[in-house]
Amino acid sequence: MHDTIAAQRRYFLSHATLEVEFRLKALSCLRKAILKWEPRLAEALKADLGKSSTESYMSEIGMVLTGLRDVRRHLRRWARGYRVMAPPAQFPSTCRVVPEPYGVSLVISPWNYPVLLALDPLVGALAAGNTCVLKPSELAPATAEVLGQMLAETFPPEYVAVVQGGVEVSNALLAESFDYIFFTGSPRVGHIVMEAAARHLTPLTLELGGKSPCIVDETADVRMAARRIAFGKVLNVGQTCVAPDYALVHINCKGAFINAFREEVEQMLGEEPLKNPNYPCIINERHFERIAHLMKVGVAMVGGKTDAATRRIEPTLLVDVPEDAPCMQEEIFGPLLPVITYESIEEVENFILSRPKPLACYIFTGNRMLEKRLLKHLSFGGGCVNDTIIHLAVPGLPFGGVGNSGMGAYHGKASFDTFSHKKSVLRKGTWLDLPFRYQPFTRFKELILRLFLR
Ligand code: NAD
Repeated sequence: MHDTIAAQRRYFLSHATLEVEFRLKALSCLRKAILKWEPRLAEALKADLGKSSTESYMSEIGMVLTGLRDVRRHLRRWARGYRVMAPPAQFPSTCRVVPEPYGVSLVISPWNYPVLLALDPLVGALAAGNTCVLKPSELAPATAEVLGQMLAETFPPEYVAVVQGGVEVSNALLAESFDYIFFTGSPRVGHIVMEAAARHLTPLTLELGGKSPCIVDETADVRMAARRIAFGKVLNVGQTCVAPDYALVHINCKGAFINAFREEVEQMLGEEPLKNPNYPCIINERHFERIAHLMKVGVAMVGGKTDAATRRIEPTLLVDVPEDAPCMQEEIFGPLLPVITYESIEEVENFILSRPKPLACYIFTGNRMLEKRLLKHLSFGGGCVNDTIIHLAVPGLPFGGVGNSGMGAYHGKASFDTFSHKKSVLRKGTWLDLPFRYQPFTRFKELILRLFLR
């Protein structure tokens, strides 16, 4: 590990990655590799998470390819940097912001979207001209293995290296000195990563999780809200960082919402979701048991069945869930949807504002004033009005959390920016040298200074 990082540092210092053409070629190689390895990636996702090939393409492989295309299209322009106007006091000068790569970057990824959340940050790291050490999650071992093989075939280890392993390996990596760390995972491990980064003063991005609320107002299209919230819970069985975690539903539409949710789930997965081959499974027994335990408090109005043998849990809507129930204390990360009713919008605001800032928030309403008010009052990483999850499919929208849900953002240009240091450079003309800043100071110099600096 230590040797790999040292080799990457030497490689970076050879300036090989500084040319934009080199980076574009690397991104093009990555694209070709993904296309070549797509069937094996899809097989691995099926083995780890039971994802169908359609879901794997829609939410992982296709997303990486879209992001890659966007970066390749704009990289030359982004890498040029941009000019900034200098104030008259600095005459004669021109100013530029020059993006430069940090150097050797470390990407640590989670198991829930093991292809997307490993390769998407890698695209940003390479686009910005960094080398990269990638540590996939040990909890999606088949995918980690295929990613390792694919990247070893595509890039030399001094440029891109995959290091396999769990917590010990992750900690050993974090003990090393990197120039940038990009971590995706839980807020708990986020603390550990940030502490490790602080030891070397390494800049970092934390893409974390948390409880993302949905708000269903009485003016909402309730059927549409139920369908799109169900989509968010069915996708990867709710094991999505931006999955709708719980729903705050106006008391007047509670019944309609529950009925619509039941019908929409049946429409998507049939009467017996546990037997649907395209319905993914929970990643491992530990998480299966954890989610099964969370279901014990509250009344299941939709779903409620589990199958330990296949680690499947039906999309389950829970009512009568007290605020101190376990499923309202931790991120659910599974197909359970606690529904809590409200009567006034102040209640909704207080509920959300009194909890850690969520990664996402979904507002279902037909009332533009209410929409504006909630967008102004609530703080969250990002979200949708009248939909769930899909804001992260737009490369132009920076994706990241705030507070407990993370810091920093990526996707599209934000990925390039995240992995680039912005070097600010002022270029001074030598044909004129105004004397006012130099000692000895006089009354006249001070007058001139005061004229410029105010
Ligand atoms: P995790 O934090 O347990 O693990 C993430 C990575 O950190 C893995 O590679 C793991 O090996 C490593 N790790 C685990 N424990 C560690 C430790 N003690 N020290 C050092 N490294 C350690 O997260 P997870 O269970 O893989 O993923 C689920 C969490 O990730 C959820 O909270 C979810 O919301 C969040 N998440 C966030 C995003 C996002 O984009 N913001 C995306 C996916 C998942």
